[in-house]
Amino acid sequence: MKIETIAVHAGHDPDSATGAVAAPIHLTTTFERDIDGAYSRGFMYSRNDNPNRQALEEGIAALEGGAAAAAFGSGTAAAMSILQALSPNDHVLAHTDAYYGITRLIRDLFVRWKLEVDFVDMSDLAAVKKALRPNTKIVWTETPSNPLLKIVDLAAVSEMAHAGNAICVCDNTWAPIIQRPFDLGVDIILHSTTKYFGGHCDVLGGILVGKIDNDFFKRVRHIQYSGGAVPSPFDCWLILRGMRTLPWRMRAHCENAAKIAEYLAQDRHVERVHYPGLTNHSGHDIAKKQMSIFGGMLSLEVKGGRNAAMNVAAKTKIFTRATSLGGVESLIEHRASIEGAGTTSPEGLLRLSIGLENADDLIEDLAQALG
Ligand SMILES: *Cc1c(COP(=O)(O)O)cnc(C)c1O
Repeated sequence: MKIETIAVHAGHDPDSATGAVAAPIHLTTTFERDIDGAYSRGFMYSRNDNPNRQALEEGIAALEGGAAAAAFGSGTAAAMSILQALSPNDHVLAHTDAYYGITRLIRDLFVRWKLEVDFVDMSDLAAVKKALRPNTKIVWTETPSNPLLKIVDLAAVSEMAHAGNAICVCDNTWAPIIQRPFDLGVDIILHSTTKYFGGHCDVLGGILVGKIDNDFFKRVRHIQYSGGAVPSPFDCWLILRGMRTLPWRMRAHCENAAKIAEYLAQDRHVERVHYPGLTNHSGHDIAKKQMSIFGGMLSLEVKGGRNAAMNVAAKTKIFTRATSLGGVESLIEHRASIEGAGTTSPEGLLRLSIGLENADDLIEDLAQALG
């Protein structure tokens, strides 16, 4: 089946008890035992498992082509469970331009628990090769990256990871549907489902999908239910509902973003545009190989630095000044000021999450804010 069909139907059988076409939400925390004390219907307690969570996990595993999935209360909780599955003195090699919440998590929490970590620019394959160590257990990729939209060659990096017996993780939050990491050798896919899966800025969630259901992934599932950072049944229901329209929303996000990137590239107030769909982008050729279209996110650097960028964000009328991404509404954000001390974001950089408004209206809004 093609991806649009999977997105609509995976995890969505009509309810066997009532015939309801829209799945019921099982708010229950606990489930009835059989007379002999068994749980023949498969559910015991909602931290361990719940029908809505199971449907979400089956749905997203099917969509990504994985063997198993584990859903969490946020993308960060999903990331944390991978790190918790490691042992002291294991080494994690991560992308310098990875989501700052995850780099912060590694630095602030896990270095204290004796994980070793190095950050390298993974768009530089020689740097990846040099930084791999005998105790490297995880190679953590993210592409396109945040906020510079750098492109990591997933096939090349996963091959290097495997040569050293490491697991290759891909944070695919920015490119669901349009990038298929398992086809490129990745072992575990992470999504912050808060973003494109939910799609409406109204639910937090995260998920890990394993290409195979091996011992490492079983440990992750164990951390999921014994650690308890699990999503509510209602949140699972919303995210699975979001998935049904995801392939079509992604097309529209990408189509709008491509038009806006073209516009910004010729605006005289703009220093640089970071969008992998532009032919002068440093990662364009690899993006063309590993993405079907180029995504709904882009960044621009405004001439005049921080103040000029803040002024642009202050003047937009359709774009909302807010963090996050992947919703139907377009968002604009001055990245350096939200990341704070230690940020590597250029001061003149604004990150745009392109929504589903008409691209011409969005361009007009940016033109008046820049002008
Ligand atoms: C938002 C985001 C996360 C973190 O997800 P939360 O749901 O906010 O915890 C991780 N990776 C990327 C690329 C993100 O954009």
